[in-house]
Amino acid sequence: SRIVTAGAQYDDEALEASIRPQRLDEYLGQAAVREQMSIYIEAARRRQGALDHVLIFGPPGLGKTTLSQVIANELGVKLRTTSGPVLERAGDLAALLTNLEANDVLFVDEIHRLSPVVEEVLYPAMEDFQIDIMIGEGPAARSIKLDLPPFTLIGATTRAGLLTAPLRDRFGIVQRLEFYNVDELAAIVRRAARIMGIACDPEGAMEIARRSRGTPRIANRLLRRVRDYAEVRAEGRITRAAAEAAMGLLKVDAEGFDELDRRLLGVIIEHFDGGPVGVESLAAALSEDRGTLEDVVEPYLIQQGFLVRTARGRMATSRGWRHLGLTPPPRPMD
Ligand code: ADP
Repeated sequence: SRIVTAGAQYDDEALEASIRPQRLDEYLGQAAVREQMSIYIEAARRRQGALDHVLIFGPPGLGKTTLSQVIANELGVKLRTTSGPVLERAGDLAALLTNLEANDVLFVDEIHRLSPVVEEVLYPAMEDFQIDIMIGEGPAARSIKLDLPPFTLIGATTRAGLLTAPLRDRFGIVQRLEFYNVDELAAIVRRAARIMGIACDPEGAMEIARRSRGTPRIANRLLRRVRDYAEVRAEGRITRAAAEAAMGLLKVDAEGFDELDRRLLGVIIEHFDGGPVGVESLAAALSEDRGTLEDVVEPYLIQQGFLVRTARGRMATSRGWRHLGLTPPPRPMD
C-alpha cells in the first residue's frame, strides 16, 4: 500500500479518532462549506427540526466522513453510519431507518453504490419520512406504511456524476469539498501534532503539507511517520530538516509524488517519447492495473499539470519532463 494513498487505511485507529475534528471550528479549510453549514445547522437548531438532507462530494480523504460527524455533533444528535455496498437488501436500510430518533443523522458513505431496490426505499423515506415494507410472501404479501421520525440523510460520494438524478434531487444541501491548500494543510498538521504531543516547527508542518497532495488524510499519515523519525533521530522535534529526511526515506518527493508516480511519468517519457500513449499500454508497461492508474495515480498528476489526457492517450507535460530532471522536447504548435 502507498503512503500517499488517499484511501482509508489506518495503522492506528485510536490515534486517528483522537485527531479527527469534532466541531465545526476544528474543521479547518473548506471555508465556504463551513460558513454555509454553520448557518443551516443554526437554523435547524432554532426550528428544533431536522437539518435538510446533505450530499457531500469530493475525492477520498478530504473530510466527508469527518464533516458528517461534525454536523451531528453541532446539531446535538446521534449519528448512524453505513455505506452503499453494505446495504444489500431493502430490509437492511429499513432496520436502520426505523431505529432513528427524531432529528438524528444517518450517514451513507459511497452512496452512489446503493442497489436500485435500496434506493427505492430511500426516496419516500427522504421525502415524506415514510417507508413501505412488504410483509409475507406470495398471495398473502401486503405492503404496510411506516412513519419515521424526521431525520437527516448525509450521503457521501467521490463522484457526483455516478448518482441517479432522482436521488440527487432529494438532497436540499449539496457541498463539494475541494483539495486543501498548503497553508490549510499546515494548520491541520500543527493541530494534529499538538494532539499527539509532538513538537512541530511551522516549517516542519509546511514541509509535510507541501507533500500531502491536498489531502488531510495523507497529511496525517505522513505526520505519523515523520513523528517516528523525529523521536528516534531528531530529539523529538519536527523541524524542516527532520521532515525532509523522514519523507526522503519514504521516497515521497517535494511534490508529494512517490515511486509509482515517478515511474508512470518515467515510462511515458522514456518508453513512449513523452506520449501520447494509451492507458492499456501504460498499464502493461508498469505492470499495474488500469483502474489503479486511472483512479489513484493519474488524478493528482493531472491536477498538478504533470500529465494530460488527450483523445489519443496520456502525455507528459513539460513540467513532467522537468520533474524527472529531463529537458522537454520542443513541441510543434497545435
Ligand atoms: P473522507 O470521508 O472524505 O474519505 P475523512 O473524513 O475520513 O475523509 O478524513 C480523513 C482524515 O483527515 C480524518 O481522519 C481527519 O482527521 C482528517 N481531516 C479531514 N478533514 C479535515 C479538516 N477539515 N480539518 C482537519 N482534519 C481533517
